[in-house]
Amino acid sequence: MFDTAFFPNAKKIWSMGKILGWDDVLVHSQSHALHYGTSVFEGIRAYSTARGPAVFRLEEHIDRFLHSAAVLKMSVPYNKADIIDACKLVIRENELEAAYIRPLLLYGYGNLGLIPKACPVELIISAWQWGAYLGEKARDGVHVYILPWRRIHHTQHHMGAKLGGNYVQSTFCGLIAREKGCDEAVFLNLEGNVAEGPGENILIVKDGVVKTNDRTESILEGITRTSVLRIAADLGLETEVGPMTKEDLCAADELMFTGTAVEVIPITRIKDGSVAGEPERECVVADGLPGPVTRQLREAYMETVGGQRPEYDSWLDYVND
Ligand code: PMP
Repeated sequence: MFDTAFFPNAKKIWSMGKILGWDDVLVHSQSHALHYGTSVFEGIRAYSTARGPAVFRLEEHIDRFLHSAAVLKMSVPYNKADIIDACKLVIRENELEAAYIRPLLLYGYGNLGLIPKACPVELIISAWQWGAYLGEKARDGVHVYILPWRRIHHTQHHMGAKLGGNYVQSTFCGLIAREKGCDEAVFLNLEGNVAEGPGENILIVKDGVVKTNDRTESILEGITRTSVLRIAADLGLETEVGPMTKEDLCAADELMFTGTAVEVIPITRIKDGSVAGEPERECVVADGLPGPVTRQLREAYMETVGGQRPEYDSWLDYVND
């Protein structure tokens, strides 16, 4: 009934403690989350390793998931250990070697006032084989559009929580970027500095220093960002955390996106539409090709998630152990 063309190898879903067929999950039209975005979610990847599939930084993802749920004042019917086990179970049930895992908590069917006083909190976990988020060609570099819209400010909302409703801004701005002929969007924040992509963090390389921003710039501090910063430092690269300006992007030696879905990919071209009413400006990052530091960090990251870097083995949760 439900075509799985965009969910390769998805067969079963974990829903409130039961393993159901892909077509058998029921969410009523009057569920609170469908109307107001009152859901929280995670995006997690498992990778094929010599010891079978391993989930990357599962515990950190579930900690963030439960933090997001707390922001929405959800009484979660499962604890952290249950959710970790369920994520691994859903990979096994779908017989996946590598997977994207999507835990979702939502206020379900009850009342429809803004306060979900009669809505049960439901947990649903799915997994499928999701390839390169921005396409295979993204590895050669993506073209980004700096939006005229500013990222929701951290004093206005919890930007460190993955709340369904927050992603409305990500979706409409991602659509704008594509209308502009670009691969992805970049948000500035209300201060006019660089914030993040709709589902990615941004790292700059300048004069050998790997730099990114933090939560004070209205971003979600991604688990990939933090892992890549650590890997960079371990490789002997200098790292720095602080505000980044729009000018820093065009003047960078290298630029990259990081995120669970996107992994580590170079940004090689920028269309700046951030000043409403002024003509858009194009700039090419350095020579327009993926730079050596980005390539080195991508390679080290992919080896890490694939279990080929023993020093980061504690970041992997082996599904069959
Ligand atoms: N920013 C936003 C808004 C995101 O949705 C994501 C994806 N979770 C990221 C950054 C990157 O986070 P992570 O590396 O934890 O996937």
